Amino acid sequence: LKGVHYAMHAGIYAAEAIYDQLKRSEGVVTDLSAYDARVRDSAIDKEIYRSRNMRQVFSKGFFAGGAMANLMEITGGRFPAGHFHTENDAEVDVFIGDRSKSYPKPDNELTFDKLSSVFLSGNATRDDAPNHIRIQEHVPLEVALMWQNMCPAAVYQVPDEVLERAEQNGGLAGMEGETVDVQVTPSNCVQCGAITAKGGRLTPPEGGDGPNYQLA
Ligand code: SF4
Repeated sequence: LKGVHYAMHAGIYAAEAIYDQLKRSEGVVTDLSAYDARVRDSAIDKEIYRSRNMRQVFSKGFFAGGAMANLMEITGGRFPAGHFHTENDAEVDVFIGDRSKSYPKPDNELTFDKLSSVFLSGNATRDDAPNHIRIQEHVPLEVALMWQNMCPAAVYQVPDEVLERAEQNGGLAGMEGETVDVQVTPSNCVQCGAITAKGGRLTPPEGGDGPNYQLA
């Protein structure tokens, strides 16, 4: 899992900084700047620095972005120099785009539809298992669509009635802001964790259920 080792190292540095402070100031923690310094002086900072422009270059398109990303990798982040601007994700409003229309259809050889992929993951969660996903289900349409497109396991679905209405009224974009009741099927979840970055919270599923990947 991407980034988990950084989280573990950051946790270790935090614990060490707190312990040092407790030792030095007789049980009172007032200054944790040592934690920041440790992170900046560690592999976390070095590795993140070398890939600091990785996402931004793909705004120039797949081929130009791919070429620059490779150069970045080869030069250890020295090229391109500087730090490309990127917007703060939380400051950009969610909107209904049409990018999903150009997604290639699954070929059933190398790529598969979402529910077939859930089956291949070996997920055998019973349908009536308690819901382990903490989420607001009455949300603006654009949020419901974002979750639907993001989730690799078809856990979130915009109701058919809404999609039919959109078709009759010239598309989904005109319905931005309308609130809908998103349909949630938690038993499909493959625990990828994406929803935790987009407004929900994942809790441990009953009995450790979830995907059970097997080598063929
Ligand atoms: S954790 Fe991943 S698979 Fe599970 S519901 Fe969220 S996005 Fe879907």
